[in-house]
Amino acid sequence: VKAKGRDGWQFFNESLQAEASQRLAISTGLRTAVERDELRVLFQPIVQAETGFVIGAEVLLRWHPAIGDVSPSAFIPVAEMTGSIVPIGRWVFEQACRAERTWRDRFGDAAPFVSVNVSARQLSDAGLVADFTAIMDRTGADPTRLQIEVTETSLMADVQANRDMIKRLSGLGIAIAVDDFGTGYSSLAQLMRLNADTLKIDKVFVQSVDQTQESRVIVSALCRIAKSLRLKLVAEGVETASQRNQMRLLGCDQIQGYFFHRPMPEADFLAVFKESITA
Ligand code: C2E
Ligand code: CA
Ligand code: CA
Ligand code: CA
Repeated sequence: VKAKGRDGWQFFNESLQAEASQRLAISTGLRTAVERDELRVLFQPIVQAETGFVIGAEVLLRWHPAIGDVSPSAFIPVAEMTGSIVPIGRWVFEQACRAERTWRDRFGDAAPFVSVNVSARQLSDAGLVADFTAIMDRTGADPTRLQIEVTETSLMADVQANRDMIKRLSGLGIAIAVDDFGTGYSSLAQLMRLNADTLKIDKVFVQSVDQTQESRVIVSALCRIAKSLRLKLVAEGVETASQRNQMRLLGCDQIQGYFFHRPMPEADFLAVFKESITA
């Protein structure tokens, strides 16, 4: 009987339980993460493909609870499921706006733009535009130097409502980037109606570009789509010189990836930026 205790089903059940209790711990912890001051943001430089100059930054959230760091890929999906991403997203947007204002005060027109991830759950929150407007007013951020990144997948969930919300944000002057392009199933018609400014090609495509002929064909097709829709094209997850060169040849305007820079604290980002403009 004992030997039968550890059969496949029970093992499966135990690991499911462990997973569920981990999710529960995460969702409980996230509810107080802002007030406990456990959140931080990092900035990953986005460079001009031709020159390597730093022209912008993607804001990336980090969570440091007392029990030990949890990666975004573990806590963001939970935050989206429970709705915690709404207040957390407001906090992130405020950090982004504060950075924009500070950088523009220091560097004027040469200041880097600031790009923020916004998930589908945030887009479906009726208060989003009012909240973001209030935050921009409070911080004195310039909306035309802000960009939001929405995933291709989040456009599929509730296409019409989410698209309306994106239009309203775009109406404020904020640039719209479609994130993880190539991994979802949005039609070209949907992409065109969205009036996005930028497509970010997902790193799974970028990283396969120097492997098989087949993946090169896919990536170059994605790039041609972006170009023919007159969208700015960004390659994310560029880790090697070869990937950088190929993405540049395929017409990418901007590049983001460990080959140039990892996500880093604001002070380090500013040092990298200053070095890049005086180079
Ligand atoms: P994402 O928006 O696709 O962000 C890019 C991810 O790729 C980041 O992971 C970044 O650190 C990583 N990355 C950048 N360059 C490279 C590279 O050369 N190689 C590899 N292997 N990875 C690279 P991170 O910071 O772990 O974030 C994961 C995801 O969590 C993000 O994917 C985004 O979907 C979500 N996320 C992060 N911050 C926020 C936020 O403030 N709000 C929301 N809603 N989602 C966020
Ligand atoms: Ca992103
Ligand atoms: Ca992405
Ligand atoms: Ca991603």
